[in-house]
Amino acid sequence: MEMGEIVIQNVNQVYHNVNQGDFNALSDINLHLCKGESLAIEGESGSGKSTLARLLIGIEKPTSGKILLDGEDITCWNYRTWKQHRKKIQAVFQDSSGTLNPARSAYANVEEALVNLTDKKRAERKKHILDLMDAVHMDYGLLETPVLQLSGGEQQRVALARVLVLRPKLLLMDEPLSNLDAKLRLHMRTEIRRIQQKLGITCLYVTHDQKEALTMSDRIMVMHGGKIEQIGTPMQLYEDPATPFVADFIGQANLIEGRLEAVQADGYGIISVSGQKLRARMGKQNPPAVGENAYLVVRPENLHLQAGSESFTVQIVNRLFEGDRIDYHVQIPNSNQTKPYSMSVPFLPGTGLIDVGTELKATFTPD
Ligand code: ADP
Ligand code: MG
Repeated sequence: MEMGEIVIQNVNQVYHNVNQGDFNALSDINLHLCKGESLAIEGESGSGKSTLARLLIGIEKPTSGKILLDGEDITCWNYRTWKQHRKKIQAVFQDSSGTLNPARSAYANVEEALVNLTDKKRAERKKHILDLMDAVHMDYGLLETPVLQLSGGEQQRVALARVLVLRPKLLLMDEPLSNLDAKLRLHMRTEIRRIQQKLGITCLYVTHDQKEALTMSDRIMVMHGGKIEQIGTPMQLYEDPATPFVADFIGQANLIEGRLEAVQADGYGIISVSGQKLRARMGKQNPPAVGENAYLVVRPENLHLQAGSESFTVQIVNRLFEGDRIDYHVQIPNSNQTKPYSMSVPFLPGTGLIDVGTELKATFTPD
């Protein structure tokens, strides 16, 4: 029976700090991952991502709540049970070189994992190992080199191969590619995703790189202060963010403050912003009530310069020429806006730049 379903039920993790009192690193975490699903975990530093990872690999036990792997409560496992089930749950951290045997070769390190834990035949083992060495771009010329003599990036790739060779049910990765250069990172994320999908490994992938989160996952979970802020497909998070935090975290967003005046029959809302009335699609998550303050979320690419039906007055306070685009920073005159909105417009040959200080009408597509 090869499964890999993870259920996290009401998990809390409280740390007792001698001087500052209790600290809730995780509050009321509930999560269901299907077999073979890949979930990216994003959030600022200190939001509890690594704490959750530590609970899942049994380094720590939660203060309360349960974690089930295929229906079995792993928070009850003791040292012996963990040893017995070690192959099922594997982890790779930002610097996993410590998991390797420094005196042995790259090949031996990967083979060692297999010999200890499975009973594959030697020839079959070799093919399997070489396939993975290809996937992590390890030069065959380096396979007999002692790990100690390899660079940090090479060591990390050996560590990844060592974990993938075991075909775990659950694979936990906490910023595994952060120490690699940009080009290799791109290659590795495609390879890890390919192997994860091919083998149907359930995967939790902690990263602060948004592009990585988008390519590595079926769903994204955004954490904030030890809580799950929102969980959904990348598209759901982008199109219907539950909170201003998520709106600004997934992609860039202008959060235009206003008040909801009315909701129309077609489900669109009318929001007044500094006395100007604007029409926009209502979010489905946590929609405000009529009369309440509301945020209008407009992506920089969706804020244009032409006057249209949904137009409002802005003043240009700064401009950044980015080659193919110009990023204008704009402010609504006489508003208590705290930071300028960003308006990203394509720069086409023949168009000029607009001077700082100019007042003009901005518009957006209300969908
Ligand atoms: P992230 O990985 O999202 O950056 P972490 O899960 O590592 O965040 O940490 C969450 C918070 O819990 C941090 O503020 C950290 O200082 C705190 N924390 C982690 N471990 C302990 C501990 N053993 N005792 C006290 N506080 C801790
Ligand atoms: Mg961390």
